[in-house]
Amino acid sequence: PVLTGGPSTRQVKLDKECELRVEVSPEAPLRLRILSGTAEIFGTEIPPEIWLTFPPSLKFAVFTWYGATIELDGTTETDYTADETPMISYVNVHAVLEGRRNRAKASPDDSVSSQGPRVIVVGPTDSGKSTLSRMLLSWAAKQGWKPTYVDLDVGQGSITIPGCIAATPIEMPIDSVEGIPLEMPLVYYYGQVSPSLNADLYKVLVKELAQTLERQFAGNAESRAAGMVINTMGWIEGVGYELLLHAIETFNVTVVLVLGQEKLCSMLKDVLKSKPGVDVVKLQKSGGVVSRSGKVRNIARKSRIREYFYGPSNDLSPHSNVVNFNDLSLYRIGGGPQAPRSALPIGAEPAADPTRLVPVNINTDLLHLVLAVSFAKEPDQIISSNVAGFIYITDIDMQRKKITYLAPSAGELPSKFLIVGTLAYIEN
Ligand code: ADP
Repeated sequence: PVLTGGPSTRQVKLDKECELRVEVSPEAPLRLRILSGTAEIFGTEIPPEIWLTFPPSLKFAVFTWYGATIELDGTTETDYTADETPMISYVNVHAVLEGRRNRAKASPDDSVSSQGPRVIVVGPTDSGKSTLSRMLLSWAAKQGWKPTYVDLDVGQGSITIPGCIAATPIEMPIDSVEGIPLEMPLVYYYGQVSPSLNADLYKVLVKELAQTLERQFAGNAESRAAGMVINTMGWIEGVGYELLLHAIETFNVTVVLVLGQEKLCSMLKDVLKSKPGVDVVKLQKSGGVVSRSGKVRNIARKSRIREYFYGPSNDLSPHSNVVNFNDLSLYRIGGGPQAPRSALPIGAEPAADPTRLVPVNINTDLLHLVLAVSFAKEPDQIISSNVAGFIYITDIDMQRKKITYLAPSAGELPSKFLIVGTLAYIEN
C-alpha cells in the first residue's frame, strides 16, 4: 500500500524463473527499472538501471531467469509475482528452432534444407499467441537472426493497423514499450476486423502475402534460414479452423505451436500426420495472459489506428491534405450490391464474387473512414498489390468536390487507388 504523500516507488525482488505480472493503471503511466540482476519483458532484455515508461493499461510481465530486483514508480491496476510460468517450455522450443536455423544456414545452396523453421502459433483468443510469437522473435533476434514476423490476425494488428495481414523482418529484440518498428512492413488490406465477413478474400490475401515472402526468401539466404513466426487469430472453429489449415498449407509451415487447447491440438495432429516434416506441439498457456472483453479489444483497435497517425507516444503529427475528388479512385473489394434475381436469366443464382472490385463513389459516408493506399498501377492489380499506408478522411466537401485527409507524412500519395473497408476512427 502506498501511503498518502509518501513515495510511490517500491522495490520487488524476483527469484529465479519467476515473473512480476503488471497491469498499468488506466489513468497514468508506470515507470520501471532494474536495480540488480537481469530480467526480460516478453523475450527482450531490460537495459540495466534506465527507467522505462509504460503507457496506461498496458499488461506485461517482467521475467527473470536468474533473479533480479526491480523498482516500480507509479500505480498499477494489479501487480503480483508468479513462480509458475511456462517459460522453460517456451525457451526449449526456441532452442529447437535455433538448431534448425543453424542447420539451414549450413546448407545455403540447397533450396529445401536452406529453409529455416516456419512456425505458426495457434490457439483461442487470449491464449498468449501474440506474446509467444514476440518472445520467439526477440530471442532469435538476440542471437543475430532476422526472422520474419507474419501477423494474420486482422482483429488486432500487431505490425500495422487492424484489418490487415502483414509481415516484417525482426532485426532486433522487440522494444518492450514501442513494440514492432513500423519501418517497411509488407501489408495487405483486408478492410474488416473479422475474417468471417469475406473468408475468400482473406484466403486470397494470405496467398499473395505468402507468395511475396517466398520470392523474397528465394533471394535472401539469411532471412530464409531465420525462418518465420506466424501469429494467427483466435477464431479456431468452423471456417476459422479452415483458415488455419489454409495458412499452414500456404506458408509451408513446419512447426505448429498450439496454445492451451487440447482439442485443437489433437485435431491438427490428426489432419497433419499425413504430412511429413510438420511438427504439432502443444504448449501450456501462461496463467498471466489477461482476457480482454469485446469492448477492450475495440479500444485497442482504435488506439492502434491512433498510433499509426500520431506515433506510439503521441510524438508524431500527421499531415492534413486536400485533394479533388477527381484525383482519387476508390474501390471496395467484394460485397457491394448484388444483381437482383429478377435481372438474371431464369434459373441463375446471383453470385457474389468475393474478390470483385467495386468502384466507390465519393460521398459523406466516407467521413472518418481509414482507407488503404494501394501500390497498384492499374485497378486490376489492386487485389494482388500490397499497400503503401493509410489515410484518414477528416472532411468531405460535396460542393467543392474536395476531400481532406490525414496521412503520416506530407506530399503526394504514392497512388490514386484507394481501398475502402469498414475501418473507421473518430478523433476525440
Ligand atoms: P492472444 O494473442 O492469444 O490474443 P496475447 O498474447 O495478446 O493473447 O495476450 C493477451 C494479453 O495478456 C496481452 O495484453 C498480453 O500483454 C498479456 N499477457 C500475456 N502474457 C502475460 C503474462 N505472463 N503476464 C502478464 N500479462 C500477460
